[in-house]
Amino acid sequence: MSSLFINEEQLASMVEAARPVAAQGTVASYIPALSEADPNHFGCVIYNGSDTIKAGETDALFTLQSVSKILSLALALIDQGEDTVFSKVGMEPTGDPFYTVQALEEEKPSKPLNPMINAGALVVTSLLPGKTESEKISRFLTFIRELTGNPSIAVCEKTAASEKEHADLNRALCYFMKSHDVLKEDVEMILNVYIKQCSILLNCEDLARIGSIIGNNGVDPASKKSIMPPHIAKIVTTFMITCGMYNESGSFAIKAGIPTKSGVSGALLSGLKNGTGIGVYSPPLDNKGNSAAGIHFLESLSNVYNLSIFSTYQEL
Ligand code: GLU
Repeated sequence: MSSLFINEEQLASMVEAARPVAAQGTVASYIPALSEADPNHFGCVIYNGSDTIKAGETDALFTLQSVSKILSLALALIDQGEDTVFSKVGMEPTGDPFYTVQALEEEKPSKPLNPMINAGALVVTSLLPGKTESEKISRFLTFIRELTGNPSIAVCEKTAASEKEHADLNRALCYFMKSHDVLKEDVEMILNVYIKQCSILLNCEDLARIGSIIGNNGVDPASKKSIMPPHIAKIVTTFMITCGMYNESGSFAIKAGIPTKSGVSGALLSGLKNGTGIGVYSPPLDNKGNSAAGIHFLESLSNVYNLSIFSTYQEL
């Protein structure tokens, strides 16, 4: 018998119930390669180290996009420590969209408010271990392969090239921060690493495996190996709750209460506190940039199975 809170049949019926909501969303097109995603794909994998259940198109591959922001943060924290990282990027949520320029102006000297907005994520990329573009991206890839247990994880060069051609806003954020001395490195190098970290290709099972480690205090629930220290898993989880869903994080915390990070590819990575990871993929996005059907699915799942981390608090 499965040790998960849900069985495959129940999961399949929840996935089918959420599927029609995708029609309310739109596939991202500001990075042209993303617009090639099949809007009808909807996949979900739930994994806890011993059991895996799947429903929908779970073989579909997609890019990490902003989901990479929690993972680059984890690696930068492991390598540089909290003091260095948080001297360069704040901890406060913002009600602004991910590409916000305004949020940079609020704290002097132009320190980005948090690592989940693009400006903050670009600073975190500059703090990844390694000096050159290839060193940084290869250290990041090694980390993702460790987290997923999947040695074949790689960058989708086509998506990276497509984003590179439309990266002027991220480039502008970098130059703005460089002019304020927040970013000291070569802008094109940081931009290239950031674009490549966003273009890492994976599937729902890979996401679920990463979620299980984050939810299990940084320890791989299958191998029992520690991949990130518990205090870093805690920081990452906190950011997932406070700013993991862009400027929809507050309502998602109320409606689902599941620590989750989304990306504009339609990916959603969730980590439950008992070491259960959930990976969801459905490309059409709502007007805040989150997977429309994916959000609906996680909110329903949380309501039916009482998964909100805030319900424990209520039960005390
Ligand atoms: N690579 C994307 C960008 O920086 C990621 C955005 C996202 O997933 O929110 O525009």
